[in-house]
Amino acid sequence: MHFTDTVYRNPYWPTFPLLQITQGCTHNNCKFCTMYKEIPFRMQPMEWIEEDLQEIAEIAPDATTIQLLSANPLCMTYDKLAPILNKINHYLPKMESIYAATRVTDIKNKTVEELKKLKESGLREISLGVESGDDWTLDRINKGYHASDILEQCRKLEEAGIDY
Ligand code: SF4
Repeated sequence: MHFTDTVYRNPYWPTFPLLQITQGCTHNNCKFCTMYKEIPFRMQPMEWIEEDLQEIAEIAPDATTIQLLSANPLCMTYDKLAPILNKINHYLPKMESIYAATRVTDIKNKTVEELKKLKESGLREISLGVESGDDWTLDRINKGYHASDILEQCRKLEEAGIDY
């Protein structure tokens, strides 16, 4: 497996296995967070993703859940993300639920229709570390968005039927 970063397994998700599709964090600027400080953001090479999926398919061919890594793997556009979800479903045909942690800003570059299609491909639940709904606090910790952004993007997730 090509794990290059700090690996964070969400303790609330019964997910096995983990699949890294990005490296680092696109923001990497929250004042309280050191998890990815030394890791420049980049996309995981598609060959690595495919090799990892082949490895997972050998070890856990009946896997029904999977968690995407790294910090905010959903930052990529729908056009880049959809083929990866298709590959997951190809190698793991019993896949039911794809989970990922990500940033509120990562939802911005997707329409509700695109989010609905991602849900149909298995994207069931997103963990958003919004930290606060208070703009002064969000500015102080350099979160990179405001309360109105959280509301706007979470409404899109609700419309698409993706839990968060
Ligand atoms: S968005 Fe998340 S991973 Fe990135 S710096 Fe902030 S808390 Fe850390």
